[in-house]
Amino acid sequence: MAEAEAPSVKDDFIRSVIRDDLASGRTQTVVTRFPPEPNGYLHIGHAKSICLNFGVAGEFGGRCNLRFDDTNPAKEEQAFIDGIQEDVRWLGFDWGRNLHYASDYFEQLYLWAEHLILAGDAYVCDLSADDMRLYRGTLTEPGRESPGRVRPVGENLDLFRRMRAGEFPEGALTLRARIDMASGNMNLRDPALYRIKHAVHPRTGDAWKIYPTYDYAHGQSDAIEGVTHSLCTLEFADHRPLYEWLLARLPAPAAPRQYEFARLNLTHTVLSKRVLTRLVAEGHVDGWDDPRMPTIRGLRRRGVPAAALKDFIGRLAIARSDSTVEMAMLDHSVREYLNEHAERRMAVLRPLKVTIRNWPEGKVEMLEAQNHPGRPELGTRMVPFSGALWIEQDDFMEDPPKKFFRLGPGREVRLRFAYFITCEAVVKDASGKAVELICAYDPLTRGGDSPDGRKVKGTIHWVSAAHAVQADALLLEPLFLSESPAAATGDPLDDLNSASVEQLAGCQLEPALADATADAPVQFERMGYFVRDNRGGPGFIRTIGLRDGWAKAQAKA
Ligand code: ATP
Ligand code: MG
Repeated sequence: MAEAEAPSVKDDFIRSVIRDDLASGRTQTVVTRFPPEPNGYLHIGHAKSICLNFGVAGEFGGRCNLRFDDTNPAKEEQAFIDGIQEDVRWLGFDWGRNLHYASDYFEQLYLWAEHLILAGDAYVCDLSADDMRLYRGTLTEPGRESPGRVRPVGENLDLFRRMRAGEFPEGALTLRARIDMASGNMNLRDPALYRIKHAVHPRTGDAWKIYPTYDYAHGQSDAIEGVTHSLCTLEFADHRPLYEWLLARLPAPAAPRQYEFARLNLTHTVLSKRVLTRLVAEGHVDGWDDPRMPTIRGLRRRGVPAAALKDFIGRLAIARSDSTVEMAMLDHSVREYLNEHAERRMAVLRPLKVTIRNWPEGKVEMLEAQNHPGRPELGTRMVPFSGALWIEQDDFMEDPPKKFFRLGPGREVRLRFAYFITCEAVVKDASGKAVELICAYDPLTRGGDSPDGRKVKGTIHWVSAAHAVQADALLLEPLFLSESPAAATGDPLDDLNSASVEQLAGCQLEPALADATADAPVQFERMGYFVRDNRGGPGFIRTIGLRDGWAKAQAKA
């Protein structure tokens, strides 16, 4: 299922087309665009398109426009327009002065529609939406012609102008291209070019009573912007003949060529704005930036660095057939990046009290701790040690099996960066649960080495109780249970994992973590990579655990 790793010098069918076009002089300057509809926030699938469009423009000395295809005011919001820009910038791409909106071209698109009417290539249709669907036919049966198809040009022009003037109620009339109701390509069966909508548009307000359809606006917007290579996902291949039909009939300044590549599909999640919108609207998640969401802002809040996301995208094939990529491959890129870049800290998520019986009353010692085991240049920090500590509940067992190398009655472990301790007694509550360990430390083992060569098998992390910072921690599991969430019932929401969040309160963190920021994940030693929640509050979110199943599987293969 995983796609092959791409070579480090990027090469794929799109880059090879562009290289040829530049060599032959067909293209002078490469112009691409990323064209989101502002009806939701971006997901990781969009990141693939962003990296491709901005990537090739950069590699070939061209430019990439950010263009909002804002043709459907009913579903679009300024918040999405702003959020999409923030997300693209966060990914590290810059459109400079090349920010555009299809709505900037509404007047031009309107004039071109009149041009089509005058040439007999478009007509006003009075079929209702339902009838239009009926008349459209099916894949096996041709469609039927709308009665409006034979309307004289003058009447079409008059009606279209009155549609613009707001004389008709919503849905009463449409403007359609006159192409071929028997075409094997459904997109060519007289597609709608304009619809009447009495909606307020985020940018044009109530200036327009008619709006171009996506298919009419999209190709023409590319042409107006002089886009040379219009890159989109495979589902638009069937729309290409329509775009070409329109361009051939319009006095457009340029003729972009469209190339389709496979969209990104990921296991254990859904990359569809429609489904993501439902997750938010129905309250299954805590907003578009919920850290379980496959949105850019969700991944960002979860602590996934932009560089790790781009590394993952860079490993994907730009191919012409659909495939599904394993989530584990994304996880691998995240782990690999964080392993190298995240500083190490100590944090106890489920605390168990340890009292060092022979530690001098009131003494506090500052111990030096490495920030990164593989990168000495990241330096060290001083961690306070005292006679009252927290350790992880899981690092103690009352009756441990042989292979358990952590603490148990009478057993000795190393406290990371500190001392060897031996557990001498266990204090229990009324239910028999261990609530405190009484331990002895060996003063000769400072720094974690024994001068007599005595070995301990386990090293555990700890936090000094008097110095600890308290925090909550969110541990996350995938939002969906199965690999392909829509497979069983067709509705991915039937596959929601009801136990995808575990919230831990009262975690005990070493003092340096008071300074942790929302854009620099850290490794809680032995517990995973965590980042401070960018929504504020005392919370940390686990970006990802430490175990890399994907790397292991790759090594075996
Ligand atoms: P969705 O399919 O999630 O509803 P969309 O395609 O309607 O999204 P747009 O805002 O129209 O969302 O997408 C902008 C661009 O991103 C388009 O060019 C589209 O082809 C591309 N894109 C969307 N989803 C993916 C994906 N999963 N992988 C790669 N590119 C994608
Ligand atoms: Mg779309």
